[in-house]
Amino acid sequence: MRVLIVEDDPQLGDGLMVGLRQSGFAVDWLKDGEAADRALASEDFDLLVLDLGLPKLAGMELLRRLRGREQDLPVLILTARDATADKIAGLDAGADDYLVKPIDIDELAARLRALARRTAGRAAPLLSHGDVILDPASRRVTVADLPVELSAREFAVLHALLANAGRVMTRAQLEGSIYGWRDEPDSNALEVHIHHLRKKLGAEFIKTLRGVGYTIPK
Ligand code: CA
Repeated sequence: MRVLIVEDDPQLGDGLMVGLRQSGFAVDWLKDGEAADRALASEDFDLLVLDLGLPKLAGMELLRRLRGREQDLPVLILTARDATADKIAGLDAGADDYLVKPIDIDELAARLRALARRTAGRAAPLLSHGDVILDPASRRVTVADLPVELSAREFAVLHALLANAGRVMTRAQLEGSIYGWRDEPDSNALEVHIHHLRKKLGAEFIKTLRGVGYTIPK
């Protein structure tokens, strides 16, 4: 899951980025509204965490532009304590959820998982296919009820494929869901992760569509 954080407070932004990475999200962080508006218009993110008081372009205006482009990614706004008017205006402008500062990182991660789940049209928190079950909250994977050890990136690849089961994920989409801007993928890293996943989950679990991408067929 690729998350964009837009927050101008350096300490808070850094804390959110580190915390969400530890929770397994691929995270990018921008500090002003204009840069974020450009990034959102040109790149695919799964989730947006948006501060409202931002330099150059206010969070509320950014949100209106985003929805004006009919971009439907879930948005969680960060508001100041007791700013009820901000919460209402934000939700009415197209935000899906809010958190009041100071932010509890575990609560933020759980809310983002819930938003991702609802966006995908799923009520159940677990992702499964055949006898493979993935729990995004505990970050555990089992095959036929037996735990399987996955690296953080193998987990992220499997998570993206299971969340999109029946659809083909391109290489760029998969890479986007496992790397932020700071860590550039090396050229065959994705193939290596897929190779390891097949060893652990069965050779047929993930299909390659040559020149297109990968899929877990429904
Ligand atoms: Ca701010």
